[in-house]
Amino acid sequence: MGLDKKTLWADVLASIRVSVSPAIFSTWFSQTHLASLTRMKERFVTEIGCNSAFIKNTIEARYFGLIQDTLTKSLNTPCDLSFIVKANPIRTSPDQETATPLFTKSKNETENFLNTLSRAKIRPGYSFENFAVSSANQMAHAAAEAVAQHPGTAYNPLFIWGGVGVGKTHLMLAVGSAAIKKNPDLKVLACTGESFTNDIIEGIRNKTTPTFRNKYRKLNLLLIDDIQFIAGKDTAQEEFFHTFNAVTFSGGQIILTSDRPPSEIAKFEERLKSRFEAGLIVDIAPPDFELRCAITQIKAQERGLPLAMEQAQMIAANLDSARKIEGALIKLMTLIGPKKAEITNEQIESILGKGIETNGKVVKKSPAEITEAICQYYRIGKRSLLGDSRTRPLARPRQVLMYLLRTELGLPLEETGRLVGRDHTTVMHAVEKITQLAMTDVQIREDISKLKMGI
Ligand code: ADP
Ligand code: MG
Repeated sequence: MGLDKKTLWADVLASIRVSVSPAIFSTWFSQTHLASLTRMKERFVTEIGCNSAFIKNTIEARYFGLIQDTLTKSLNTPCDLSFIVKANPIRTSPDQETATPLFTKSKNETENFLNTLSRAKIRPGYSFENFAVSSANQMAHAAAEAVAQHPGTAYNPLFIWGGVGVGKTHLMLAVGSAAIKKNPDLKVLACTGESFTNDIIEGIRNKTTPTFRNKYRKLNLLLIDDIQFIAGKDTAQEEFFHTFNAVTFSGGQIILTSDRPPSEIAKFEERLKSRFEAGLIVDIAPPDFELRCAITQIKAQERGLPLAMEQAQMIAANLDSARKIEGALIKLMTLIGPKKAEITNEQIESILGKGIETNGKVVKKSPAEITEAICQYYRIGKRSLLGDSRTRPLARPRQVLMYLLRTELGLPLEETGRLVGRDHTTVMHAVEKITQLAMTDVQIREDISKLKMGI
Protein backbone atom coordinates (compact mmCIF):
# COMPACT_ATOMS: atom_id res chain seq x y z
CA MET A 1 0.00 0.00 0.00
CA GLY A 2 3.05 2.21 -0.09
CA LEU A 3 2.74 3.41 3.47
CA ASP A 4 5.71 2.78 5.70
CA LYS A 5 4.51 2.14 9.25
CA LYS A 6 7.78 3.17 10.78
CA THR A 7 7.95 6.50 9.00
CA LEU A 8 4.30 7.21 9.63
CA TRP A 9 4.68 6.50 13.34
CA ALA A 10 7.85 8.62 13.51
CA ASP A 11 5.79 11.45 12.00
CA VAL A 12 2.98 10.97 14.47
CA LEU A 13 5.40 10.89 17.41
CA ALA A 14 7.13 14.02 16.15
CA SER A 15 3.83 15.94 16.31
CA ILE A 16 2.92 14.48 19.68
CA ARG A 17 6.35 15.36 21.06
CA VAL A 18 5.58 19.07 20.78
CA SER A 19 2.26 18.83 22.57
CA VAL A 20 3.33 16.89 25.66
CA SER A 21 6.20 17.44 28.07
CA PRO A 22 9.52 15.69 27.36
CA ALA A 23 9.11 13.48 30.41
CA ILE A 24 5.62 12.33 29.46
CA PHE A 25 6.89 11.68 25.97
CA SER A 26 9.83 9.60 27.05
CA THR A 27 7.85 7.76 29.73
CA TRP A 28 4.90 6.76 27.59
CA PHE A 29 5.15 7.51 23.91
CA SER A 30 8.69 6.35 23.26
CA GLN A 31 7.51 2.89 24.32
CA THR A 32 5.02 2.54 21.48
CA HIS A 33 5.09 1.59 17.82
CA LEU A 34 2.63 1.09 15.00
CA ALA A 35 2.02 -2.65 14.96
CA SER A 36 -0.41 -2.78 12.07
CA LEU A 37 -2.20 -0.55 9.62
CA THR A 38 -5.05 -1.79 7.45
CA ARG A 39 -7.25 0.09 5.02
CA MET A 40 -10.95 -0.70 5.39
CA LYS A 41 -12.95 1.25 2.80
CA GLU A 42 -12.98 4.86 3.98
CA ARG A 43 -11.02 4.27 7.16
CA PHE A 44 -7.75 2.98 8.49
CA VAL A 45 -7.70 0.41 11.25
CA THR A 46 -4.55 0.61 13.30
CA GLU A 47 -3.01 -1.33 16.14
CA ILE A 48 -0.67 0.53 18.44
CA GLY A 49 1.89 -1.74 20.06
CA CYS A 50 2.88 -0.86 23.63
CA ASN A 51 5.89 -2.34 25.42
CA SER A 52 3.90 -3.34 28.51
CA ALA A 53 0.36 -3.64 29.80
CA PHE A 54 0.97 -0.68 32.05
CA ILE A 55 1.98 1.54 29.14
CA LYS A 56 -0.97 0.29 27.12
CA ASN A 57 -3.48 1.07 29.86
CA THR A 58 -2.10 4.52 30.55
CA ILE A 59 -1.80 5.52 26.91
CA GLU A 60 -5.22 4.15 26.09
CA ALA A 61 -6.87 5.94 29.00
CA ARG A 62 -5.13 9.27 28.65
CA TYR A 63 -3.91 9.79 25.13
CA PHE A 64 -6.39 7.96 22.92
CA GLY A 65 -7.83 11.19 21.53
CA LEU A 66 -4.45 12.80 20.96
CA ILE A 67 -3.14 9.79 19.04
CA GLN A 68 -6.31 9.39 17.04
CA ASP A 69 -6.35 13.05 16.02
CA THR A 70 -2.69 13.04 15.10
CA LEU A 71 -2.95 9.82 13.07
CA THR A 72 -6.08 11.01 11.31
CA LYS A 73 -4.32 14.23 10.36
CA SER A 74 -1.18 12.44 9.15
CA LEU A 75 -3.17 10.00 7.01
CA ASN A 76 -5.83 12.48 6.07
CA THR A 77 -8.32 9.67 6.66
CA PRO A 78 -10.36 8.72 9.75
CA CYS A 79 -8.64 6.10 11.91
CA ASP A 80 -9.80 3.47 14.36
CA LEU A 81 -7.34 2.58 17.06
CA SER A 82 -6.75 -0.45 19.14
CA PHE A 83 -3.96 -0.88 21.65
CA ILE A 84 -2.04 -4.10 22.14
CA VAL A 85 0.83 -5.22 24.32
CA LYS A 86 3.68 -5.98 21.96
CA ALA A 87 7.39 -5.25 22.09
CA ASN A 88 8.73 -3.08 19.33
CA PRO A 89 10.33 -5.38 16.75
CA ILE A 90 12.75 -2.65 15.68
CA ARG A 91 14.67 -1.65 18.75
CA THR A 92 16.02 1.84 18.78
CA SER A 93 18.85 2.81 21.05
CA PRO A 94 17.36 3.82 24.39
CA ASP A 95 19.72 6.79 24.59
CA GLN A 96 18.47 8.16 21.34
CA GLU A 97 14.87 7.82 22.36
CA THR A 98 14.79 9.08 25.86
CA ALA A 99 17.81 11.13 26.82
CA THR A 100 17.38 14.84 26.42
CA PRO A 101 20.87 16.23 26.44
CA LEU A 102 21.22 19.20 28.70
CA PHE A 103 23.53 20.94 26.29
CA THR A 104 23.69 20.45 22.60
CA LYS A 105 25.91 23.41 21.84
CA SER A 106 29.67 23.72 21.50
CA LYS A 107 31.98 23.43 24.48
CA ASN A 108 32.56 27.17 24.55
CA GLU A 109 28.91 28.02 24.47
CA THR A 110 28.27 25.47 27.19
CA GLU A 111 30.97 26.97 29.36
CA ASN A 112 29.62 30.49 28.87
CA PHE A 113 26.16 29.30 29.70
CA LEU A 114 27.33 27.58 32.87
CA ASN A 115 29.24 30.72 33.91
CA THR A 116 26.19 32.88 33.40
CA LEU A 117 24.09 30.45 35.41
CA SER A 118 26.64 30.49 38.18
CA ARG A 119 26.69 34.32 38.29
CA ALA A 120 22.91 34.24 38.53
CA LYS A 121 23.30 31.71 41.39
CA ILE A 122 21.26 29.14 39.49
CA ARG A 123 22.34 25.56 40.08
CA PRO A 124 22.64 23.80 36.73
CA GLY A 125 20.57 20.70 36.11
CA TYR A 126 17.19 22.26 36.78
CA SER A 127 15.53 22.73 33.45
CA PHE A 128 12.16 22.38 31.77
CA GLU A 129 13.57 19.42 29.85
CA ASN A 130 13.98 17.36 32.99
CA PHE A 131 10.80 18.53 34.70
CA ALA A 132 7.94 16.05 34.41
CA VAL A 133 4.41 17.34 34.12
CA SER A 134 1.09 15.86 35.20
CA SER A 135 -2.19 17.24 36.47
CA ALA A 136 -0.49 17.90 39.85
CA ASN A 137 1.72 20.63 38.43
CA GLN A 138 0.53 21.44 34.92
CA MET A 139 -0.86 24.83 35.79
CA ALA A 140 2.36 25.93 37.50
CA HIS A 141 4.39 24.48 34.65
CA ALA A 142 2.38 26.30 32.00
CA ALA A 143 2.67 29.59 33.89
CA ALA A 144 6.42 29.10 34.33
CA GLU A 145 6.89 28.41 30.63
CA ALA A 146 4.90 31.52 29.73
CA VAL A 147 7.06 33.59 32.08
CA ALA A 148 10.27 32.13 30.64
CA GLN A 149 9.12 33.08 27.16
CA HIS A 150 7.98 36.58 28.05
CA PRO A 151 9.52 37.71 31.33
CA GLY A 152 7.88 40.77 32.79
CA THR A 153 4.74 40.57 30.71
CA ALA A 154 2.99 37.26 31.33
CA TYR A 155 2.30 37.03 35.09
CA ASN A 156 4.05 39.30 37.52
CA PRO A 157 4.86 38.17 40.09
CA LEU A 158 4.49 34.45 39.59
CA PHE A 159 3.92 33.01 43.04
CA ILE A 160 4.36 29.23 43.28
CA TRP A 161 3.42 27.48 46.50
CA GLY A 162 3.21 23.87 47.68
CA GLY A 163 4.57 21.28 50.10
CA VAL A 164 8.14 20.13 50.50
CA GLY A 165 9.75 18.48 47.46
CA VAL A 166 6.95 19.09 44.97
CA GLY A 167 9.34 20.83 42.57
CA LYS A 168 8.90 24.56 43.36
CA THR A 169 12.61 25.35 43.35
CA HIS A 170 13.19 23.19 40.27
CA LEU A 171 10.49 24.98 38.30
CA MET A 172 11.61 28.44 39.36
CA LEU A 173 15.24 27.78 38.45
CA ALA A 174 14.12 26.26 35.15
CA VAL A 175 12.58 29.63 34.26
CA GLY A 176 15.86 31.38 35.10
CA SER A 177 17.86 28.92 33.09
CA ALA A 178 15.54 29.07 30.05
CA ALA A 179 15.44 32.87 30.15
CA ILE A 180 19.25 33.02 30.18
CA LYS A 181 19.46 30.52 27.33
CA LYS A 182 17.17 32.73 25.31
CA ASN A 183 18.92 35.95 26.21
CA PRO A 184 22.36 35.62 27.84
CA ASP A 185 22.45 39.36 28.59
CA LEU A 186 19.45 39.24 30.87
CA LYS A 187 20.29 40.24 34.46
CA VAL A 188 19.05 37.30 36.52
CA LEU A 189 19.54 36.46 40.18
CA ALA A 190 18.26 33.57 42.26
CA CYS A 191 18.30 33.75 46.04
CA THR A 192 16.30 32.61 49.03
CA GLY A 193 14.17 34.66 51.41
CA GLU A 194 16.87 33.97 53.97
CA SER A 195 19.85 35.09 51.87
CA PHE A 196 17.93 38.20 50.80
CA THR A 197 17.38 39.03 54.48
CA ASN A 198 21.02 38.36 55.38
CA ASP A 199 22.18 40.57 52.53
CA ILE A 200 20.14 43.48 53.85
CA ILE A 201 21.40 43.04 57.40
CA GLU A 202 24.96 42.95 56.12
CA GLY A 203 24.32 46.04 53.99
CA ILE A 204 23.08 47.93 57.01
CA ARG A 205 25.91 46.73 59.23
CA ASN A 206 28.64 47.56 56.71
CA LYS A 207 26.96 50.69 55.46
CA THR A 208 26.75 49.19 51.98
CA THR A 209 23.00 49.47 51.48
CA PRO A 210 23.48 51.23 48.10
CA THR A 211 25.46 48.20 46.87
CA PHE A 212 22.65 45.93 48.01
CA ARG A 213 20.09 48.06 46.19
CA ASN A 214 22.20 48.15 43.09
CA LYS A 215 22.42 44.39 43.12
CA TYR A 216 18.69 43.73 43.43
CA ARG A 217 16.80 46.65 42.01
CA LYS A 218 18.31 46.57 38.53
CA LEU A 219 17.49 42.97 37.78
CA ASN A 220 15.45 41.79 34.82
CA LEU A 221 14.52 38.57 36.57
CA LEU A 222 14.54 38.06 40.33
CA LEU A 223 13.86 34.60 41.74
CA ILE A 224 13.28 34.32 45.47
CA ASP A 225 12.84 30.87 46.97
CA ASP A 226 10.94 30.40 50.23
CA ILE A 227 9.77 34.00 50.45
CA GLN A 228 7.76 33.09 53.59
CA PHE A 229 11.04 33.55 55.45
CA ILE A 230 10.74 37.35 55.31
CA ALA A 231 7.24 37.39 56.84
CA GLY A 232 7.24 39.23 60.15
CA LYS A 233 10.72 40.70 59.53
CA ASP A 234 10.07 44.41 59.15
CA THR A 235 13.29 45.57 57.50
CA ALA A 236 13.32 42.67 55.05
CA GLN A 237 9.68 43.25 54.07
CA GLU A 238 10.24 46.97 53.66
CA GLU A 239 13.29 46.44 51.46
CA PHE A 240 11.58 43.70 49.49
CA PHE A 241 8.58 45.96 48.85
CA HIS A 242 10.82 48.62 47.28
CA THR A 243 12.85 46.03 45.38
CA PHE A 244 9.63 44.57 44.03
CA ASN A 245 8.40 47.96 42.87
CA ALA A 246 11.71 48.92 41.29
CA VAL A 247 12.12 45.64 39.40
CA THR A 248 8.56 45.43 38.12
CA PHE A 249 8.40 49.16 37.34
CA SER A 250 11.30 48.81 34.94
CA GLY A 251 9.69 45.81 33.24
CA GLY A 252 11.51 43.08 35.18
CA GLN A 253 9.97 39.79 36.29
CA ILE A 254 9.68 38.38 39.80
CA ILE A 255 9.09 34.76 40.74
CA LEU A 256 8.53 33.66 44.31
CA THR A 257 8.06 30.32 45.96
CA SER A 258 6.56 29.56 49.33
CA ASP A 259 5.24 26.70 51.42
CA ARG A 260 1.83 28.40 51.71
CA PRO A 261 -0.29 30.81 49.69
CA PRO A 262 0.15 34.52 50.61
CA SER A 263 -3.31 34.65 52.20
CA GLU A 264 -2.22 32.07 54.77
CA ILE A 265 0.96 33.85 55.78
CA ALA A 266 -0.39 36.02 58.53
CA LYS A 267 2.79 37.97 59.06
CA PHE A 268 3.08 39.26 55.50
CA GLU A 269 2.34 42.96 55.28
CA GLU A 270 -0.96 43.69 53.56
CA ARG A 271 0.70 45.75 50.85
CA LEU A 272 2.87 42.76 49.94
CA LYS A 273 -0.10 40.41 49.85
CA SER A 274 -1.93 42.72 47.51
CA ARG A 275 1.12 42.90 45.22
CA PHE A 276 1.24 39.10 45.12
CA GLU A 277 -2.43 38.85 44.37
CA ALA A 278 -2.01 41.16 41.41
CA GLY A 279 0.13 38.51 39.75
CA LEU A 280 -0.57 34.81 39.46
CA ILE A 281 -0.66 32.50 42.47
CA VAL A 282 -0.42 28.81 41.55
CA ASP A 283 0.07 25.72 43.64
CA ILE A 284 1.76 22.40 43.00
CA ALA A 285 0.06 19.34 44.47
CA PRO A 286 1.95 16.26 45.69
CA PRO A 287 2.90 14.06 42.74
CA ASP A 288 0.47 11.37 41.59
CA PHE A 289 1.65 7.90 40.60
CA GLU A 290 2.18 8.79 36.96
CA LEU A 291 4.32 11.77 37.86
CA ARG A 292 6.34 9.78 40.38
CA CYS A 293 7.05 7.21 37.65
CA ALA A 294 8.28 9.92 35.32
CA ILE A 295 10.42 11.53 38.05
CA THR A 296 11.93 8.14 38.93
CA GLN A 297 12.84 7.59 35.30
CA ILE A 298 14.30 11.05 34.83
CA LYS A 299 16.41 10.85 37.98
CA ALA A 300 17.60 7.31 37.18
CA GLN A 301 18.54 8.39 33.67
CA GLU A 302 20.48 11.38 34.97
CA ARG A 303 22.48 9.10 37.25
CA GLY A 304 22.98 6.49 34.56
CA LEU A 305 21.07 3.90 36.61
CA PRO A 306 19.88 1.04 34.41
CA LEU A 307 16.35 0.93 35.79
CA ALA A 308 13.68 -1.04 33.91
CA MET A 309 10.23 0.49 33.47
CA GLU A 310 8.68 -2.07 35.78
CA GLN A 311 11.27 -1.25 38.46
CA ALA A 312 10.62 2.47 38.17
CA GLN A 313 6.97 1.66 38.75
CA MET A 314 7.77 -0.37 41.85
CA ILE A 315 9.65 2.59 43.28
CA ALA A 316 6.97 5.10 42.30
CA ALA A 317 4.22 2.94 43.76
CA ASN A 318 5.90 2.75 47.14
CA LEU A 319 7.33 6.23 47.67
CA ASP A 320 5.13 9.27 47.79
CA SER A 321 7.56 12.12 47.17
CA ALA A 322 10.32 13.13 44.77
CA ARG A 323 12.79 13.49 47.63
CA LYS A 324 12.17 9.93 48.84
CA ILE A 325 12.56 8.71 45.27
CA GLU A 326 15.92 10.46 45.02
CA GLY A 327 16.96 8.93 48.35
CA ALA A 328 16.03 5.46 47.10
CA LEU A 329 17.97 5.93 43.86
CA ILE A 330 21.06 6.99 45.79
CA LYS A 331 20.78 3.83 47.89
CA LEU A 332 20.43 1.79 44.70
CA MET A 333 23.56 3.43 43.26
CA THR A 334 25.51 2.34 46.32
CA LEU A 335 24.02 -1.13 46.17
CA ILE A 336 24.91 -1.86 42.56
CA GLY A 337 28.36 -0.32 42.78
CA PRO A 338 30.40 1.64 40.23
CA LYS A 339 30.11 -1.03 37.55
CA LYS A 340 26.37 -0.38 37.33
CA ALA A 341 25.48 -4.04 37.43
CA GLU A 342 21.97 -4.97 36.42
CA ILE A 343 19.42 -4.11 39.10
CA THR A 344 17.27 -6.93 40.40
CA ASN A 345 13.72 -6.59 41.72
CA GLU A 346 14.93 -8.05 45.02
CA GLN A 347 17.40 -5.18 45.41
CA ILE A 348 14.58 -2.72 44.86
CA GLU A 349 12.37 -4.51 47.34
CA SER A 350 15.19 -4.47 49.85
CA ILE A 351 15.62 -0.71 49.66
CA LEU A 352 11.88 -0.09 49.70
CA GLY A 353 11.19 -2.53 52.49
CA LYS A 354 12.76 -1.40 55.72
CA GLY A 355 14.76 1.59 56.63
CA ILE A 356 13.28 4.18 54.30
CA GLU A 357 12.72 6.79 56.90
CA THR A 358 11.82 10.42 56.77
CA ASN A 359 11.98 12.61 59.82
CA GLY A 360 12.49 9.51 61.92
CA LYS A 361 9.11 8.13 60.89
CA VAL A 362 8.93 4.85 59.05
CA VAL A 363 6.90 5.18 55.88
CA LYS A 364 4.09 2.81 55.00
CA LYS A 365 4.75 -0.91 54.99
CA SER A 366 5.96 -2.58 51.85
CA PRO A 367 3.91 -4.97 49.71
CA ALA A 368 6.24 -7.77 50.84
CA GLU A 369 5.40 -7.13 54.48
CA ILE A 370 1.66 -7.13 53.82
CA THR A 371 2.01 -10.41 51.90
CA GLU A 372 3.96 -11.89 54.81
CA ALA A 373 1.33 -10.71 57.32
CA ILE A 374 -1.44 -12.39 55.29
CA CYS A 375 0.51 -15.66 55.10
CA GLN A 376 0.98 -15.66 58.85
CA TYR A 377 -2.56 -14.67 59.67
CA TYR A 378 -4.19 -17.31 57.49
CA ARG A 379 -1.37 -19.81 58.05
CA ILE A 380 -0.67 -20.42 54.41
CA GLY A 381 2.53 -20.37 52.38
CA LYS A 382 3.44 -17.52 50.07
CA ARG A 383 3.61 -19.87 47.11
CA SER A 384 0.03 -21.07 47.67
CA LEU A 385 -1.19 -17.55 48.32
CA LEU A 386 0.19 -16.34 45.01
CA GLY A 387 -0.39 -19.62 43.16
CA ASP A 388 -3.09 -20.78 40.78
CA SER A 389 -5.46 -22.59 43.10
CA ARG A 390 -8.91 -21.04 43.28
CA THR A 391 -10.18 -22.93 46.32
CA ARG A 392 -11.87 -20.76 48.92
CA PRO A 393 -9.19 -21.15 51.66
CA LEU A 394 -6.68 -19.58 49.27
CA ALA A 395 -8.86 -17.36 47.11
CA ARG A 396 -10.23 -15.33 50.02
CA PRO A 397 -6.85 -14.47 51.59
CA ARG A 398 -5.61 -13.57 48.11
CA GLN A 399 -8.54 -11.19 47.69
CA VAL A 400 -7.81 -9.67 51.08
CA LEU A 401 -4.20 -9.21 49.99
CA MET A 402 -5.27 -7.34 46.86
CA TYR A 403 -7.70 -5.28 48.91
CA LEU A 404 -5.02 -4.25 51.39
CA LEU A 405 -2.44 -3.47 48.72
CA ARG A 406 -4.94 -1.16 47.11
CA THR A 407 -6.45 0.43 50.19
CA GLU A 408 -3.49 0.54 52.56
CA LEU A 409 -0.69 1.31 50.09
CA GLY A 410 -2.75 2.96 47.38
CA LEU A 411 -1.00 0.83 44.75
CA PRO A 412 -2.34 1.14 41.23
CA LEU A 413 -4.36 -1.77 39.82
CA GLU A 414 -1.57 -2.87 37.48
CA GLU A 415 1.08 -2.86 40.18
CA THR A 416 -1.20 -4.82 42.55
CA GLY A 417 -1.90 -7.30 39.75
CA ARG A 418 1.80 -7.71 39.04
CA LEU A 419 2.57 -8.45 42.68
CA VAL A 420 -0.21 -11.01 42.98
CA GLY A 421 0.27 -12.50 39.51
CA ARG A 422 -3.23 -11.54 38.36
CA ASP A 423 -4.55 -9.11 35.78
CA HIS A 424 -6.06 -5.79 36.75
CA THR A 425 -9.69 -6.84 36.29
CA THR A 426 -9.18 -9.64 38.81
CA VAL A 427 -7.78 -7.07 41.22
CA MET A 428 -10.78 -4.83 40.64
CA HIS A 429 -13.22 -7.67 41.35
CA ALA A 430 -11.30 -8.71 44.45
CA VAL A 431 -11.41 -5.21 45.92
CA GLU A 432 -15.12 -4.91 45.16
CA LYS A 433 -15.84 -8.32 46.65
CA ILE A 434 -14.01 -7.61 49.91
CA THR A 435 -15.55 -4.16 50.21
CA GLN A 436 -19.01 -5.72 49.81
CA LEU A 437 -18.28 -8.54 52.24
CA ALA A 438 -16.88 -6.19 54.84
CA MET A 439 -20.27 -4.52 55.05
CA THR A 440 -22.13 -7.74 55.89
CA ASP A 441 -19.66 -10.31 57.12
CA VAL A 442 -18.36 -9.87 60.66
CA GLN A 443 -15.57 -12.39 60.18
CA ILE A 444 -14.05 -10.57 57.22
CA ARG A 445 -14.32 -7.26 59.03
CA GLU A 446 -12.47 -8.69 61.97
CA ASP A 447 -9.80 -10.27 59.75
CA ILE A 448 -9.15 -6.98 58.04
CA SER A 449 -8.96 -4.92 61.18
CA LYS A 450 -6.59 -7.41 62.84
CA LEU A 451 -4.44 -7.50 59.74
CA LYS A 452 -4.33 -3.72 59.60
CA MET A 453 -3.24 -3.54 63.20
CA GLY A 454 -0.55 -6.13 62.63
CA ILE A 455 1.00 -4.52 59.57
P1 ADP B 1 10.59 22.06 46.56
O1 ADP B 1 11.36 23.30 46.23
O2 ADP B 1 9.15 22.15 46.18
O3 ADP B 1 10.75 21.61 47.97
P2 ADP B 1 12.44 20.82 44.71
O4 ADP B 1 12.24 21.66 43.53
O5 ADP B 1 13.67 21.05 45.52
O6 ADP B 1 11.15 20.86 45.67
O7 ADP B 1 12.36 19.29 44.24
C1 ADP B 1 12.91 18.22 45.02
C2 ADP B 1 13.56 17.22 44.06
O8 ADP B 1 12.56 16.57 43.30
C3 ADP B 1 14.50 17.88 43.07
O9 ADP B 1 15.58 17.04 42.83
C4 ADP B 1 13.66 18.00 41.82
O10 ADP B 1 14.47 17.95 40.66
C5 ADP B 1 12.75 16.79 41.92
N1 ADP B 1 11.45 17.04 41.32
C6 ADP B 1 10.33 17.51 41.92
N2 ADP B 1 9.32 17.60 41.04
C7 ADP B 1 9.81 17.18 39.85
C8 ADP B 1 9.25 17.04 38.54
N3 ADP B 1 7.98 17.36 38.29
N4 ADP B 1 10.04 16.57 37.55
C9 ADP B 1 11.33 16.24 37.80
N5 ADP B 1 11.91 16.35 39.00
C10 ADP B 1 11.17 16.82 40.01
MG1 MG C 1 12.57 24.47 47.47
